[in-house]
Amino acid sequence: MHGNWFRKRRIADDLSAFDEPYVHDVFRSNIWHLRGRDADLIVDTGMGLGILSAALDLTPGKPVMAVATHAHADHVGSLHEFADRLGPRIEAPAFATMDDKATYADMFRVLTEPVSRPPTENWNKKAYTLHPAPLTRMLDDGDVVDIGDRILRVLHLPGHSPGSMGLLDEKDGLFFSGDAIYQGELYDELPDSDRETYRATMALISRLQVRIVHGGHGESFDATRMRQIAETYIRQSRP
Ligand SMILES: [Zn+2]
Repeated sequence: MHGNWFRKRRIADDLSAFDEPYVHDVFRSNIWHLRGRDADLIVDTGMGLGILSAALDLTPGKPVMAVATHAHADHVGSLHEFADRLGPRIEAPAFATMDDKATYADMFRVLTEPVSRPPTENWNKKAYTLHPAPLTRMLDDGDVVDIGDRILRVLHLPGHSPGSMGLLDEKDGLFFSGDAIYQGELYDELPDSDRETYRATMALISRLQVRIVHGGHGESFDATRMRQIAETYIRQSRP
């Protein structure tokens, strides 16, 4: 059953997108698989309801780095399946414990219909938990993640959550933005969100030189749309 849990889409020669079509749309997030020359990069890992590493087309023996853009449940569920786990230093304690207070797994548990199809037989939403996945490499703003033919820079993009981060290939303009920016409703009123910080992040994002943005949710978009979303947010979220 796990084999069909994830939906896979080919985005480019070196990039595939996965998501979980049976998950409630608020928690249905994007999982990115970027194949580098020397290593593969997984950006975010879904809810942990299926076995992600089995659904990916991984090359035996080739290093895999799994990066979580932040510690919310819909991005960290399968992180524990990977030996190399990267994420924002600021949220490191959350990865070690996967406490509800940081992941909001409790919000998923109380949904009337968290999934439209059970991931396994006798699945029970009340028993949903996340496996701790302590980070093996903590990322700070400006750090780089090197996969051989691409170097991705870590951008600290707080506001949605305190440690939210993105990854930008400054040469090619490929930008993984996590939940800092995507097409769809942005969440800035969670207990760990901060709207003023979020506005500063949107100002930073609106100045980035990018070609394409692959967000934590929804369809990918270009730089024009990115600036539009960022500027609209800044305008509309003013107190
Ligand atoms: Zn989030």
